[in-house]
Amino acid sequence: MGEHEMHEIFEKNRSLLITNVVTEGHAVDIFVDEQGTIAGIGKNERKNHPGEADFIIDGDGALALPGLVNTHTHAAMTLMRGYADDMILQDWLAQKIWPLEAHLTGNDIYWGTRLACLEMIRTGTTAFNDMYFFMDEAARAVDESGIRAVLSYGFIDLNNAEKRENECRATEKLALHVRSLSNPRIKAAAGPHAIYTVSPEGLKWCAEFAREQKCGIHIHLSETEKEVTDCIAQYGKRPAAHLDTCGILTPRTVAAHCCWLDETECKLLGKRGVSASHNPVSNMKLATNRAMPYPWLSAAGTNVCLGTDGCASNNNLDMFEEAKTAALLQKFFWNNPTILPAPEALAMATANGAKALGFPTGRLAAGAPADLVLVSTRTACNTPLHNATSNLVYACSGGSVETTICNGRVLMLNCEIPGEQDVLNGAAAAARALVKRSQSA
Ligand SMILES: [Zn+2]
Repeated sequence: MGEHEMHEIFEKNRSLLITNVVTEGHAVDIFVDEQGTIAGIGKNERKNHPGEADFIIDGDGALALPGLVNTHTHAAMTLMRGYADDMILQDWLAQKIWPLEAHLTGNDIYWGTRLACLEMIRTGTTAFNDMYFFMDEAARAVDESGIRAVLSYGFIDLNNAEKRENECRATEKLALHVRSLSNPRIKAAAGPHAIYTVSPEGLKWCAEFAREQKCGIHIHLSETEKEVTDCIAQYGKRPAAHLDTCGILTPRTVAAHCCWLDETECKLLGKRGVSASHNPVSNMKLATNRAMPYPWLSAAGTNVCLGTDGCASNNNLDMFEEAKTAALLQKFFWNNPTILPAPEALAMATANGAKALGFPTGRLAAGAPADLVLVSTRTACNTPLHNATSNLVYACSGGSVETTICNGRVLMLNCEIPGEQDVLNGAAAAARALVKRSQSA
């Protein structure tokens, strides 16, 4: 390929023949058609499609895996990366995060989300579940970045009827806006923030809205012990039971954190088909004092997936790091090294996440959308290659990803992302201006 043709690969969907990659222990080629679908995967694809592909990507023995799925983020919080760390949760929010958030503009959300998408592309994530503000600007950033997202407006009514009206209208407006984009990579969801910020009336409205719109629900659940004790004091039941009363627990619901669930609540989540998003790095950094009860959730048949949470409490969006941390935290907390083995951690980061968000991705198979990433084997973390899954979860990081493809479009090739420096400059400038505004206020 000449230099001119090389750049064309980024411009739009092209048919691709990806040769010589390894998936589930087999050396295969992958043929992706112009519609962005995996049209064939197997040993003979280069013979089945001779001369058909617009581009040939030489996989050079790389590991091919489905694009990773980040099921809980506040993407634009990338602008707050490193702004405040090592604080008590309540102080951190009240003294640092909320004062900064009060000055956020749509432009900030655009640049913060562009930066988040850039980081996700670089570290192999092709879909994410986002909850924040100015979500039409987040949608613009996702649209331009080329990855997938489920976007929800963070619905917070604080038991105030007037505020609730605003939040309902904002939720409806986002759903309409996303529909007007008619982009198959972007979906809207209802985003009731949590039981301590949303009234039962607000929760019920969100549940009804999601049922009517056939869209997802994205909520925080039982992150802290205080949330549980307050809920029992106020409603006479534990958080999951309270959410169930309000109709929030559905097969389209993603509940983030789930640290303080008891065994009965885990069974309820399993019965209702809820997806539980494990956020181990954020939980450890903010010291929630309890790990998600993964053994109870998996025994109950709950779909458990992974998320990074916002960049202010992580401080990156590397899902490889998240998968490793999940496996380590579960083993350590339950004092049992057999809990959450590598294949389960990798499934949480891929297939389970795709299922949680209702995208037909998360697997490399003919007929599936081509959301896939290539991880080089010519690196220390993949040498030797006794067990690819073990290396991916325990040895590699997102930095080992060299090529990222979403819906058949090449977003990063051999570590090159077109326009990367512009996004870095734009986001850094937005972050500097945001801090300046908050300090002069
Ligand atoms: Zn969160």
